[in-house]
Amino acid sequence: MFKPGLRDRIAFHYMVAAGAIFLVVFLLLYAAMHRTVYSHLDRDLYVEARGVIRSVAFLNQQIIFTDESEWQEKEHKQADVNPMFLQVITPNGAVIRKSPNLEGQSLSFDPKHTDRRSLNATISNSAVRQLQLPLQGPEGTTLGYLLVAMPRQEAENVLTNLHRVLIAAFPGVLLVVFFTSRWIARRTISPVERITATAEQITSRTLNERVELPPNQDELFRLATTINELLERLQNAMLRERQFTEDASHELRTPLAALKGTLEVLIRKQRTPQEYEEKAQYCIMETQRLADLVDHLLLLARSEANQVPATIAPCDLREVVESATKRVGPLMTAWRTKAILPETQSPTVSADRNLLEVMIQNLLSNAVKYSPEGSTIEITWSSDSLQVRDHGIGISDEMKPRIFNRFFRGDLPQSSGDGAGLGLSIVKRLADLQHLDVSVKSEPDGGTTFEIHFAERP
Ligand code: ADP
Repeated sequence: MFKPGLRDRIAFHYMVAAGAIFLVVFLLLYAAMHRTVYSHLDRDLYVEARGVIRSVAFLNQQIIFTDESEWQEKEHKQADVNPMFLQVITPNGAVIRKSPNLEGQSLSFDPKHTDRRSLNATISNSAVRQLQLPLQGPEGTTLGYLLVAMPRQEAENVLTNLHRVLIAAFPGVLLVVFFTSRWIARRTISPVERITATAEQITSRTLNERVELPPNQDELFRLATTINELLERLQNAMLRERQFTEDASHELRTPLAALKGTLEVLIRKQRTPQEYEEKAQYCIMETQRLADLVDHLLLLARSEANQVPATIAPCDLREVVESATKRVGPLMTAWRTKAILPETQSPTVSADRNLLEVMIQNLLSNAVKYSPEGSTIEITWSSDSLQVRDHGIGISDEMKPRIFNRFFRGDLPQSSGDGAGLGLSIVKRLADLQHLDVSVKSEPDGGTTFEIHFAERP
């Protein structure tokens, strides 16, 4: 089925609108012309009739023609050049007198039209305009009628020609409007077509290309700018994805290589049971590290794909913190670290309980990892925030903006364990999902405080 393009639709709508306007204009023009032509005829008829009426007298209820010259004028005698026909009749239609140019014919009387308004009539197939005025005696009685007529063929010709011209011009005008507006529409839309053509050529490989901006700062300029911004975001997202995949494979490859190397060395020759046990322990540890890493990667990937639903509900902060502390328990025991919780009653905050627990758990395990053995972690809270403070190595100002990036790891002492640089990016991502804020205050060697803000949501 034919589906007209935008260009054709615009042109069509223009054509319909212009068609309606032209139709009204043509009708008005025709009506004005009609009126002008006929009012000229009617005026001539009336002037003539007045002249004849002045030359009529009444005697004993009889009509008498006092001025014979009025009837002898040239236009009443000839029938071919500008004739003016005259006829006087009695009230019951009998002809009293008629002008010579009528010859054998008579003007037919229409009793319904005896006022100043003329009517269209015919004399032996030729069209005339006719005026019928009553001839009233001194007492006001109608003693007869004067009929004055003149050919209206020329007036009809003028009107017919005008009619023909207008009818013929109408489709022409419509076609001109259609093609002109189609041309204008094409010119207007051409930047859109250029934008579409460029956008069609952009693939994931050529995401660095941009749509050309139109010279005028109009709606199309905004469209092109919006597409370019979209491309920018897509390109950044693609680059981030690529970086993520590369970093993730790199992080996974290291423990896998360590596992493979250890097992290869182990089977090269017969070992003592202690050696087997030692290596097996090492492999278990590396496998655990791999499992943790995969868990973190999965959580991050799912949360970035918005597949981690956040169910916001009121939760008791002490309960969440205690649960997170319990999970970090083994690590704390290994580092002989102690977490101190406030005595005060804990606030109830709006958050997703499970996601909040993962966030606090990550902050606590960092606090343990980046503090000297045997130190304490202080947890404090207010009605709308939670702070986790450690007395560890601290974070330099230049590192602060990067610590929430995926796979970012600071320049760390060997003792601080072997994370993958995902903990804080998970904290940030889960905070975003719950519309929470996370901030950090820290100084190198002066300890670090992470704060979660539970702002009121609108
Ligand atoms: P990971 O702990 O696996 O390195 P994170 O994303 O949790 O990854 O942390 C990123 C970096 O931020 C860490 O490598 C470390 O340099 C710094 N960092 C995070 N928490 C602390 C902290 N409590 N004290 C000092 N540095 C920290």
